[in-house]
Amino acid sequence: MSANRKPKVATVWLDGCSGCHMSFLDIDERLVALSSLIDIVYSPVVDPKDFPTDVDVTLVEGAVSSEEDLHKIQVIRQRTKILISLGDCAVTGNVPAMRNSYEPAELLARAYVENAQSPDSRQPPTRGLPALRPKAQPVHELVKVDLYLPGCPPPADAIHFVVAELLAGRTPDPSQLTRFGR
Ligand code: SF4
Repeated sequence: MSANRKPKVATVWLDGCSGCHMSFLDIDERLVALSSLIDIVYSPVVDPKDFPTDVDVTLVEGAVSSEEDLHKIQVIRQRTKILISLGDCAVTGNVPAMRNSYEPAELLARAYVENAQSPDSRQPPTRGLPALRPKAQPVHELVKVDLYLPGCPPPADAIHFVVAELLAGRTPDPSQLTRFGR
């Protein structure tokens, strides 16, 4: 991290339920203290819409499920020094990967044809629906991940610990604070 500026931190939401971001916000008042030490440059909780360059730390929630997710995570990887898989969906695929025994076409038919409320809308949308990849995959299967922060969601204390340790220049080991499925 550069000594001349505050570290740039981003959080990203791929195929997840937003629970990991809720846990991030549960850092509560410590988030105020953290915000004086870092710049949150991209996140569902801030305004900027384009992922910036030279980001020091990015926490990624969710599995890579769509072509849009894949493009996003590839760009983020290129622009991030330390990439953290945040939560079980990012770490293992978890809930989004439950769809992996079905073909995308079967899933779309189930959601938009078999379960359609109105007979007039019995087809998958043709616009605004990112193309599904054959499987929902954990982030590390597509790009290099530097740190894993498991949990569903990881507790706020674990997220705070990891960010604070990185800011202090140490490599965090969150295994005492969280684990898969916790
Ligand atoms: S790990 Fe759990 S809380 Fe986080 S996105 Fe997945 S299902 Fe939601």
